[in-house]
Amino acid sequence: MTSSYQQPDRTRRSAALFEQARSLIPGGVNSTARATWSGWDPYPLFVERGTGSRVTDADGNEYIDYLLGLGPMLLGHRPPAVTRAVVECIEQRGTMFALPSADEITLARKIVAAVPGLDRVRLCNTGTEAVLYAVRLARAFTGRHKLIRFEGMYHGFSDGVYWSKHPKLDAAGRDDSPVAVPQGPGLPRGVGDSLIILPWNDVEALRSTLEREGDQIAAVLSEPIMCNTGCILPEPGYLEAMRELTHKHGVLMILDEVITGFRIALGGAQSHYGITPDLSVFAKGLGGGFPVAAMGGRRDVMALVEDGTVSIAGTYNANMIAVSAANATLDELAKPGMYERLYAVSDRLREGLDRLVRDLRLPAHVVGLGPVFQLWFADRPIRNYRDAVRHADHDAFRRWWEGMLDRGVLFHPGAYENLFVSFAHSEEDVDLTLAAARETLTEMMVA
Ligand code: PLP
Repeated sequence: MTSSYQQPDRTRRSAALFEQARSLIPGGVNSTARATWSGWDPYPLFVERGTGSRVTDADGNEYIDYLLGLGPMLLGHRPPAVTRAVVECIEQRGTMFALPSADEITLARKIVAAVPGLDRVRLCNTGTEAVLYAVRLARAFTGRHKLIRFEGMYHGFSDGVYWSKHPKLDAAGRDDSPVAVPQGPGLPRGVGDSLIILPWNDVEALRSTLEREGDQIAAVLSEPIMCNTGCILPEPGYLEAMRELTHKHGVLMILDEVITGFRIALGGAQSHYGITPDLSVFAKGLGGGFPVAAMGGRRDVMALVEDGTVSIAGTYNANMIAVSAANATLDELAKPGMYERLYAVSDRLREGLDRLVRDLRLPAHVVGLGPVFQLWFADRPIRNYRDAVRHADHDAFRRWWEGMLDRGVLFHPGAYENLFVSFAHSEEDVDLTLAAARETLTEMMVA
């Protein structure tokens, strides 16, 4: 199977732009997820514009977009209501004052009303910052130092958590007691000592760790759905056990809803699963494509921020653009019937793909919930990071990705990323995608 992506007639301008970019920007890109070593090999597509569910690259090729900016474009590209709100804000009011505005109160009220686990909320700009604040707050509240996090998850690139995202197994310790592996050089060595890395979806590992050293542990930090090693759902009862065990040991439960927030439901995955964490973190889905994030939770924990005991600072926090974008986004998301429609379109795609791989008897399966999922090329279920390392077929995923891109369907080339569906995707988009998938998968079988 020959990909025109690798025979760059169709993407010649992207190839040329990448050459120029490389001479000025290390790696030719401004974030690791766009780099050649993250799958965009031999070069990333350079984008010209996006409209609704579609993206047009620098060569004028149009794609149905399931990358969605790695998640934030929940309303599709350039959602008119958000664009209007932001343009109006810039033209008529301003962008930055480093003073509060009434709009922040409106936004905080909407967020707190939507998400069950929030009594109080603070705004910032990125998921990385929001996680950093939440972990600091948990340490201050409990007076404890250690943090449990799970192998295969990503919680941003700050020194305290950028460990054991996708470690090489020969450096990562035993399956039942992984060691903390820094994402690369430059992370302060001592930080690893404050981290306890556990396999996800393993109640016993969590229980025994909390029983052994719960009195030193400030928080358990987890995504409600593992979205940074493909897509892995929590096994029934797992999040409930996490809630119960953390509660029992006086350990805070921090849910990182950067991907799932406002996507799985208006109230996030926590409302879907009926789990109330102590602290939660939101970003991508909140801003309709503009950088804005939120960290919030229990009133008594957030009280430490109230009197300045724990400082949460940021020049750009709650800037006017972020707040107007988030206010307009949440108004759109709160319209009646929105999530029903999103789920109907998403389920049509997920179920259609799953049916396809079963009809073709491929060793593959689709895992996800509503508008976030991944196609695993694996002959068995994947329940944690080590299963993925041992059983996911990355070569097959690459052929799938190339075949789909050739047929005008865009998503991230990494098997450990996700496909995202937006409110702008239509049934027609899904049917075109499924037709492309049938051709691609059939071709893969004969290749
Ligand atoms: N947490 C999770 C679960 C994420 O997926 C990400 C980013 O992908 C982050 C945190 C970091 O967010 P940001 O890229 O906005 O800093």
